[in-house]
Amino acid sequence: MALIVQKYGGTSVGTPEKIRNVARRLLETKGQGHSVVAVVSAMSGVTDSLLKLAREVSGSPTERELDVLLSTGEQTTIALTAMAVDDLGGKAISLTGAQAGIVTDGIHTKAKISNITPHRIHKMLDDGNIVIVAGFQGHTDSGAITTLGRGGSDLTAIAIAAALKADICQIYTDVDGVYTCDPRIVPTAKKIEVISYDEMLEMASSGSKVMQSRSVEFAKKFQVPFEVRSSFNNNPGTTVIEETPGMENVVVRGVSLERKQAKVTIQHVPDRPGVASRIFRTLADAHVIIDMIVQNVSIEGSTDISFTMNCEELAKMGHLLDNVVAEIGAGKIIKKEGVAKLSVVGIGMRSHSGVAAKLFEALSQGSINIQMITTSEIKTAVIIDESEIESAARLAHTAFGLDA
Ligand code: ASP
Ligand code: MG
Repeated sequence: MALIVQKYGGTSVGTPEKIRNVARRLLETKGQGHSVVAVVSAMSGVTDSLLKLAREVSGSPTERELDVLLSTGEQTTIALTAMAVDDLGGKAISLTGAQAGIVTDGIHTKAKISNITPHRIHKMLDDGNIVIVAGFQGHTDSGAITTLGRGGSDLTAIAIAAALKADICQIYTDVDGVYTCDPRIVPTAKKIEVISYDEMLEMASSGSKVMQSRSVEFAKKFQVPFEVRSSFNNNPGTTVIEETPGMENVVVRGVSLERKQAKVTIQHVPDRPGVASRIFRTLADAHVIIDMIVQNVSIEGSTDISFTMNCEELAKMGHLLDNVVAEIGAGKIIKKEGVAKLSVVGIGMRSHSGVAAKLFEALSQGSINIQMITTSEIKTAVIIDESEIESAARLAHTAFGLDA
């Protein structure tokens, strides 16, 4: 008999029928002799409509009250799920985040979990219940309701699994697991059976978003192995674990793509201390989120600096740098939208050579021009025209032997 935490996302509980489906799955697991804790999200669309409501009554809703409001989405689902289990002849009880003992800091709308005291959950499991916990929420030491940031139910599930020392944590969603690339773009993409925390994090930050990154970081920190799988079938999913030596034999685990990127180049930036800090401090103070940064070696006292960001961030940047560029005596600012980022990710890169060469060869076969390149220990990424991203993904997928 195992202790199993199962998390069901918004699409998995999106309708009354889907909630009954979740209830059936919970009962099935319980029927196999396991102790079951379910963590559920708000029904799909609910969090967004609550946010919209808030904006309709106030131009700037206070964050404390936003949390009170948003937490009702998950509270609705826990009650409905418990009723459905009950109706199917099972025994279930629902708990809000606070009742489940989830304590957070006081940063409303993006609180961090500070500790979990799950004695209530233990007691209710001991009494034979399926325990259904509201995702995405907790409370502060002084009793204020908090939420954990969008997608935060994943974090609730991982954190509860860690606190309960659960045997398994299963993240049920509307896809079968993590794929080597988006199957809508690369039809030969296949499901990854096992992936390391680091690869999962890199793939998430390069555009393959299956789960909230913060929850993967948390799982890594507390060594919680988990599985991502579909709530609509019984196919095995993708297991995410700490890396094992054998995992390095695969050079590239997956290919990620991120569209709607923009590239900014500042020409003829004087080569002296303090100049880069002036540029990026100005952007940071305006909360513009930067992705890649590339600076060339300087020739005759000046260099070009290029960086990328989301197109939305480019709009936010606006003319922010015009004055800075004039002040530091740099040349023109060139902004280009319509680019995208392609990344190949794998811990095997640390011990294999030729990854960059192979990627660049694949792109050259498709006559795809590379505009920027960056690498990390387990990732090689390029910026290319957005119109070429799909063929680039297919070429890279084939080149690294990922086709099914
Ligand atoms: N309901 C929240 C959201 O939509 C939390 C979650 O679904 O994980 O972001
Ligand atoms: Mg969600």
